[in-house]
Amino acid sequence: MSAVVPGLPLVLDLDGRDVLVVGGGPVAAAKARQLLAVGARVTMVAPHFDEASHFDAASDLAELPGPAVQRRRRAYRPSDLNGCWLVITATDDEDVTAAVAADAAAARVFHNAADRPEHCSATLMALHRRGDVTVAVSTGGRSPAAAGWLRDRLAATIDAGAERAVRVAAVARDRIRAAGRSSEGLAWRNLLDEAAGLDGGRVAEADDAAADLADRFVRRALSGDAHSSPGGAHGSPDGDRAGRVQLVGAGPGDPGLLTVAAVAALRWADVVVHDALVGDGVLALIPKGTELIDVGKRPGRPVPQEAIGALLVLLARNGRRVVRLKGGDPYVFGRGGEEALALAAAGVAYDVVPGVSAALAAPALAGVPVTQRGLAAAVTVITGHRALSQPPVDWEAAARLGGTLVVLMGVAERAAIAAALQRGGLHPDTPVAVIERASRADQRVLRTRLRSVGDLLVEAPATLVIGEVAALDLRSAGGASSGASAIEGATTELCAAVG
Ligand code: SAH
Repeated sequence: MSAVVPGLPLVLDLDGRDVLVVGGGPVAAAKARQLLAVGARVTMVAPHFDEASHFDAASDLAELPGPAVQRRRRAYRPSDLNGCWLVITATDDEDVTAAVAADAAAARVFHNAADRPEHCSATLMALHRRGDVTVAVSTGGRSPAAAGWLRDRLAATIDAGAERAVRVAAVARDRIRAAGRSSEGLAWRNLLDEAAGLDGGRVAEADDAAADLADRFVRRALSGDAHSSPGGAHGSPDGDRAGRVQLVGAGPGDPGLLTVAAVAALRWADVVVHDALVGDGVLALIPKGTELIDVGKRPGRPVPQEAIGALLVLLARNGRRVVRLKGGDPYVFGRGGEEALALAAAGVAYDVVPGVSAALAAPALAGVPVTQRGLAAAVTVITGHRALSQPPVDWEAAARLGGTLVVLMGVAERAAIAAALQRGGLHPDTPVAVIERASRADQRVLRTRLRSVGDLLVEAPATLVIGEVAALDLRSAGGASSGASAIEGATTELCAAVG
């Protein structure tokens, strides 16, 4: 009745049922073909049948199941609706469409009008079918193009693994019901995840392995042992599956810099353990219902590293699907390596999903190429955090490396670091770029020279880039500055934030 109320999506079983198509052009012919493909008995009514639609061509009909289409070569009459379950109009004649809509409503027959959502009591959805799975997307008839576009995006997620998972779960359900048992409350998601994840080998091997999985699942279900834990979709501690941890890099903050694997992990997780550095935009991508645990190290509330490792182990042992979400890349000064060691020592399965590190992203977003022919043939990433740098960094030796130095966690110690680098032989005029909150809406880029780094007011998190390349700004032709001349005269140049 109204486009505002979303309506109830249904799958209509039209096999052997009468459906009327009003119209004789190519759109009507396409609708008739769709209906025939699902077994409907189709009657078309139109004063004129567009020969271009070649609807009589034996070659077209031969491919289609079900009986042939009946054609009535005359104007539509209300009595055409008699006995029909559904009517579809595909005609340019507005009056006919409106009349069919009114007659159909009176006769309690659902009506779909091609391109006329205001006349529809039923809308068609953009479909994708693979195996037993149908993905149908509706925009309530408002934009078929958008529905098709979204359908294609969703269809891409239904790969061979997903199809196999559905097949295996369907077989398992049949067997459990055939044994007179309920299929409710079982740990279906664990079975589906595992069946979908079987890849790497040949298809036949994955199918065999999936059949084994289903076998075990059915046996446990019949012995009353394959239930999911109360109140959760995850498996029970001693259920059919141990938990797993993914150490995931969240990038520098902008969700656009997440990897596809990171996004998939966030959807997979039932609990996400994250740090303070993970951006709000990234956290917003975590589905509702996923548990969030913030272990961000903040002043006055330090979370000891061992406690984080122990938490991950505990969650995994409870059968949880755990994502440990860390800013940038998990193994670049994120102490992700220590967490991986804790998991390995406890015998917990884990994977790492590398992320875009601030060490490379921050300079790039400030228009600074960390390597550049003629300016820098190497880039060295160093921590400026005194307590965490074990063994301690030899800054004077770093000064002699040449190339670009990228310093993370160096805000507090920046003056001391700059002094040590100068003692090591770096020229006091060496360009420095400081990038605060790279990739976030309030990103800020400051430029100075090594001798003045201590005088800059800098807010963490910030990345320091030291070397000739730090004078470059390749962000746009208009804003580009040519090497060292850009900082000539000014000790500090404040650059506009990037979007
Ligand atoms: N694993 C992270 C680094 C963790 S150490 C990564 O790969 O990016 C934390 C330091 O990274 C911060 O002190 C800062 O120097 C840098 N950093 C992290 N996010 C940043 C951002 N958005 N902008 C600038 N620097 C950032």
